Amino acid sequence: MDLTTCYCRNRYCARYGLTGPQARLIRAGWHRRAPQLECVDCRHRFSARAGTAYAGIRSSDLIFRDGVRQLAEGASIRATARNIECDKDTVLGGCRVWADIVSDYWITSCVICI
Ligand SMILES: [Zn+2]
Repeated sequence: MDLTTCYCRNRYCARYGLTGPQARLIRAGWHRRAPQLECVDCRHRFSARAGTAYAGIRSSDLIFRDGVRQLAEGASIRATARNIECDKDTVLGGCRVWADIVSDYWITSCVICI
């Protein structure tokens, strides 16, 4: 997971939205297999997965990424579940989370839709 794209999630912080070295984030342990970050300025703690396609996913990043790649290549939900050795309902749940994030992106960022 690329932590250089993370930023302070506290809307009232002066560093809200700043990424890379300007974000001034430090690692603050782990929560549900995901790194937790802390803003040096406001001390707000949040999951590095917050606001990303990984939010709410309980499996490891590698398994999730592998499953998404297989689905993007056209594999069925059942085939993907067999390949990454998990239940088909787990893959389906991941698809719903992913679809919500992608649709939010298109609704708020797509220059064609705005
Ligand atoms: Zn902050």
